[in-house]
Amino acid sequence: MGATAIVTRFAPSPTGLLHLGHAHAALTAWRAARDAGGQFLLRIEDIDPTRCRPEFTDAILEDLAWLGLDWDGEVRVQSRHLADYRAVLDALAARGLLYPCFCTRSDIAREIAASAAAPHGPDGALYPGTCRRLAADEAAPRVAAGEPHALRLDMAAALATLPTPLTFREHGRRITCDPARFGDAVLARKDIPASYHLCVTHDDALQGITLVTRGEDLLPATDLHRLLQHLMGWPEPDYAHHGLLTDANGRRLAKRDRAATIRELRQAGIGAAEVRQRAGEGTPPQPLLFLEPGD
Ligand code: GLU
Repeated sequence: MGATAIVTRFAPSPTGLLHLGHAHAALTAWRAARDAGGQFLLRIEDIDPTRCRPEFTDAILEDLAWLGLDWDGEVRVQSRHLADYRAVLDALAARGLLYPCFCTRSDIAREIAASAAAPHGPDGALYPGTCRRLAADEAAPRVAAGEPHALRLDMAAALATLPTPLTFREHGRRITCDPARFGDAVLARKDIPASYHLCVTHDDALQGITLVTRGEDLLPATDLHRLLQHLMGWPEPDYAHHGLLTDANGRRLAKRDRAATIRELRQAGIGAAEVRQRAGEGTPPQPLLFLEPGD
């Protein structure tokens, strides 16, 4: 494998059975790697024990193998690596870039309702910064006493570390990031000492991912991911977000569309080659004929 070898990944969350949209995402990453003689890795993003189930992880491995997709190396299962994510949080906290947030959802909603402006970002209303204003000698004893808290990125402090605006390469084109629109994003949830944004960027770096292919619903998140990569000194992968598969009514496929699961198609006697075709294999990457980019 040369120095420029491509490494891609498919990173599903095992919250249900794979549907054609997942198959499309997996095929896109697999094909990009295989066409370039690179590596295709599989990662299970299962940090949320309330939504993820081991039987769905087993089903994902089985369905991908049935589809004829092979992956390189060990499957990384995020829930087994919480100590890795804790180390990143500790590093950011040591630089004063995180603060504990004790607010409940209703505290935040109340604060937002009372404020004149309520800016929104890709993940919803921006956090009004209530706990950022807590003095350290007020927050520390509450943490020490075990009061439940999330850890938030101090966005202003993080942005102050940037010499110039961040950019990323999307389908070969440079795009300027605007991570500020996430506000003080949660990097460790109250119930889980980690978060999607933290784990996905950590693992892309750890696994040497050079090309992130994923659905365009995650395009906005890339701004925050680039900021985390900058803060942690992690390498910058290329990005290639793809359109999302839609049903006959133009609705984006989701887990509720049980008829579209790979399992059911297979049980209905449809072969892997046909399912791969239905998932958009072999069609031009952007935009796909039967996709609605921007849906
Ligand atoms: N685990 C995420 C999901 O299932 C995908 C993460 C990513 O590709 O960045 O939506």
